[in-house]
Amino acid sequence: MEACPATASASDIRDGQGTRAPARPLPALVFERTPGEAARPLPSRWRRREPERTALHAVVRGHLAELLDDARRRSDSGTGYPAFVGHEFSRYLDCGVMAHGFSRLRCPDCGFERLVAFSCKGRLCPSCWARRAADTAADLVDRVLPEARYRQWVLTFPWQMRYLLATDRAFQSAVLRTFLRTVGAWMRLRARRLGLRGGQVGAVTFVQRFGGILNLNPHFHTLMPDGVFVEDTDAPGGPLSFVALPPPTDADIAALGLRLATRIGDLARQRFRQTQDEPPWQDPDELPLRITVAEAVRPPGPKPPRALPWEAAPPPDDQGSGKTPAKALCTRVQGFSLHAARTVAPDDRLGLERLCRYGLRAPFSLDRLSLDPDGRVRYRLHRPWPAPEGRTEIVLEPVAFLRRLAALLPAPYQNLVRYYGVFANRSRFRNRLPTAPARTAEPEAASATTTATDASPAATASPESAAAPPAPAAPPPDRPRRVHLGWAQLLRRVLDVDALQCPRCPAHRPMVVLAFLTDPAVVRRILEHLKLPATPMPVATARRVDWEAEFDTGDRPDEWYGCEADCGAGSTGDDAGIRAPARGPP
Ligand SMILES: [Zn+2]
Ligand SMILES: [Zn+2]
Repeated sequence: MEACPATASASDIRDGQGTRAPARPLPALVFERTPGEAARPLPSRWRRREPERTALHAVVRGHLAELLDDARRRSDSGTGYPAFVGHEFSRYLDCGVMAHGFSRLRCPDCGFERLVAFSCKGRLCPSCWARRAADTAADLVDRVLPEARYRQWVLTFPWQMRYLLATDRAFQSAVLRTFLRTVGAWMRLRARRLGLRGGQVGAVTFVQRFGGILNLNPHFHTLMPDGVFVEDTDAPGGPLSFVALPPPTDADIAALGLRLATRIGDLARQRFRQTQDEPPWQDPDELPLRITVAEAVRPPGPKPPRALPWEAAPPPDDQGSGKTPAKALCTRVQGFSLHAARTVAPDDRLGLERLCRYGLRAPFSLDRLSLDPDGRVRYRLHRPWPAPEGRTEIVLEPVAFLRRLAALLPAPYQNLVRYYGVFANRSRFRNRLPTAPARTAEPEAASATTTATDASPAATASPESAAAPPAPAAPPPDRPRRVHLGWAQLLRRVLDVDALQCPRCPAHRPMVVLAFLTDPAVVRRILEHLKLPATPMPVATARRVDWEAEFDTGDRPDEWYGCEADCGAGSTGDDAGIRAPARGPP
């Protein structure tokens, strides 16, 4: 049996075989462990990710207890954060770690074996987040979004609204509805002017909670077909067809931006007034998370490089004039910004899938995270902040960094993908839309063994039927049901790497799952036999906050508080603890 390369050395050595693989018969003097070894094709490029070696894992391992302890101290009842926060962090620590169990794959031909660790499916874990994003994007492109030119509409909000948007789900939904109705009504109006009656619009929105600097910045990325779906007047009730509309102009975007700022501004003012009368957060146990969320709205760092909107007058171009800035199809009005320059051509389905993945991406990138020698967390920014010549990276204390991650975690069951118009589940037009174009068929290879990293061993394999196109002539009675793609299919689809391919056999046959191993004793025995780490990395306990050390001024504490010396065990002093300090604390 061979484990997937858990250490760098094993795979590095094998990856280094690229220079020695002549297909012709080898001279008799070349050493081969087994006959034909040297002539075998290169191993698959896939190798196990090693989450326990990442900076994120180290920070969470080292400071999670401290983070939770800190929140407990800040809550009235001592409960700290809501349970899901600690739960998400702990799940992440277990994800991909062999010591918590794995599945065992074997090649049916040559018997080559590989172990694959279980994943957590959590909302903090970057790997599971990426996997979920790939799955959702594949589903959208295969099943939901018909062939059309798509435009990405990005709407961001003023600082003052962000806390409310992040914590008040009803308000967030109302704002999204207003946004989509405004843009949808504008599209239908343009269609009517072109003589298209009864045009229907649809949209898929990705709700992102984060900005580029680990800050809380709820905003919407909406994909909308750049046109309307219309009914054939000769065949009412039949399938809809897509009619593209001319692209918007800068003036259109400026007018839409101003309308959105006014309408959503009204909505926010109304909600602010309501919350002043009756705050929606009565539960004192929610306080620590709310404080954390409010803190995360502010950009990280000791001092914001520029004043926040409530501290200073907005810049001249931000006064609601609707003035069009230099960037095409982009406007900034009263702290709102609307951007609609990015489009995907109808035949660029891969581009559409990439754009979906972009909207669904994780709040931060693991690649840009590193640890300083003093333990502080360094995060390289995607673009300088504030643009164009601001900081290119930020450095945070580990607990402050984790607090930001806690604020960026979406609440459980909060839906980050929202469907509107003809794409909504309850829309009567959904089944009459043109079907999504078929993807080129993928090899059936992995369909039998795709659940290798699923945390639940009982999960069943998913067939490849998601993209199967019904005949285009008549509308399908029911659209194909969503089928979750397996882990190996997603890897193949996103990275073009087949994790299930046997690296030994010339035919590269798919390996099959032999077993899911979760019994700690068996897992341990196998890992020890393979000389792999059989115990998970230790998780640090909370550090005690030493207030005395923190505020030590060099004075003798017992000069201040007589009780320290007098009411300890064995003390007999009658006046213990009531003696006036010789001198007050500083
Ligand atoms: Zn995970
Ligand atoms: Zn094989």
